[in-house]
Parts: sequence; structure tokens; C-alpha cells
Amino acid sequence: MLSQEQKKLDWTWANSDEWSINFPCANGLCQSPINIKTSDTVPKFFSPLNFSSKYDSDLMFTMANSGQQILMTLPKDSNEQTGDEIFFTGINLIGKYHFSNLHIHWGVDSKQGAEHQIDGNRFAGEAHFVHKNKDTQQLAVLAIFLTVSDIGNESNEWDEYANIASQLTKTDDKTKCVLNLSRLMQMKHTEFYRYEGSLTSPPCTEGIIWTVFRDEVPIREESLNALRQKILPNTYRPVQPLNDRTVFRNYERSPTI
Ligand SMILES: [Zn+2]
Repeated sequence: MLSQEQKKLDWTWANSDEWSINFPCANGLCQSPINIKTSDTVPKFFSPLNFSSKYDSDLMFTMANSGQQILMTLPKDSNEQTGDEIFFTGINLIGKYHFSNLHIHWGVDSKQGAEHQIDGNRFAGEAHFVHKNKDTQQLAVLAIFLTVSDIGNESNEWDEYANIASQLTKTDDKTKCVLNLSRLMQMKHTEFYRYEGSLTSPPCTEGIIWTVFRDEVPIREESLNALRQKILPNTYRPVQPLNDRTVFRNYERSPTI
């Protein structure tokens, strides 16, 4: 019998075709990520997205290497802040969605790495801000694409993130850090896609509400290289069939005539 620890590492990014052997959900009909074909998306009205004021604060997080990814969560032992105050509301979701974790996906080079694709376009990385409704246990992920930009060589919050994350080279390595969620998200995002999918890593549980923002935030190539070289070369799942799901968009197509 496998110990819990061995079981936890019983999958790799390289063997995603075999995940369903141990994690049957991976064979479901509503899996993530997907390629979003924009011409097939359906316009829909969404209520405004509002973040609690804590998103603008520098907050203490724990960053840990799970063996398959770097997870950033709120420290369990912190008396200085309470996770109860870190939430968003709106975008047609009922109730408060509290911050649960942040992790990012990347690839061996900058031509790949994001999980979702837009009309077949692949971005260099993708950040997943995982949120949970504490009353219903519903999970909602805010996904933001990362693209490489070395303009001005100015480092931003993502470079700071990568600098800390890339030092956690071994499974179970962890550290505390101070980062700012609104500087990571850059908060300018207004246009997005919405569909129902799954976790993109085992157990690939379905029933996850995805909000995939259209625009991208920059990260330096050097920062992605540090993650590729020191953590794992590749941490994304290939796109999965859409099947008969609908992808909604919160913006109107521009009139063509
Ligand atoms: Zn993810």
C-alpha cells in the first residue's frame, strides 16, 4: 500500500495521459484546460467583480513546493491577518469567494506554458488564483495569462514571486513571503471568458467555475527560466475536449457592419 506521501506524488506533468488510471475524474467530459474558440463563445451579462480591500495590501503568504507545483497559501499560524477578509464577490457568483491558493503554470520555453488557449494561441504562463465559497465549498478560479516582457528590464511582482518560488527546489520546501495580490493580478482586467470545468491536475475534480481573463500580465524570461531550471521544466496540462459545454464572454463582439 502506498503511503500518503508516495500517493501524493503519484502523477507527473509528463504522464497526463495516464492520470485517469488513478484519478478517474481525469476522463470526465467537463475537463480543463480548454482551447477557447472566441467565435463560438456566447455573450452574457455579468455583475461587476469586486475585491475586498485586503487585495491592495502587502500580505504574508506561505509558499511551498508540493513536488508538482509551487503553492502560495495564507499562513495557518498567522495572527496578524485573517483569511476571512480576503475575498471577491460578483461576476454572477453567489456569496463571497475567499482566496485559497495561487499557483502558476509554465513550460519549457515561452512558446508554451499556459493551460488555456485562445483561438489556439499559447501564452508563456498562466496564473491561477483559486478561490472558495466557504458556505458551499464551490471553487472558482481566476486565470490570468503571463507573457514574457523584458521591456525596460523592470522587475514586477511576478519577478519577485518567481525569485522566491525558484528557491524552493525540493519537495516540501517552504518559506514565508510578503506579496501583494492586486499587484500580481494587476487588476485592470475587465474582459473574460466563463465556463465550467475541472481542476487541471489530479484529482481533476469537475464542477469548477473558470473565469479566464483576456489580457496578459508581463513576467521576465529570466524569472520563468529560474522556475524551469530549478523547479520543473514544464507544469501544464494539455487542452481537453470542450464536448458540449458553452463558453460565455462578458464583452460584445464589435459590430462588423
Ligand atoms: Zn492551476
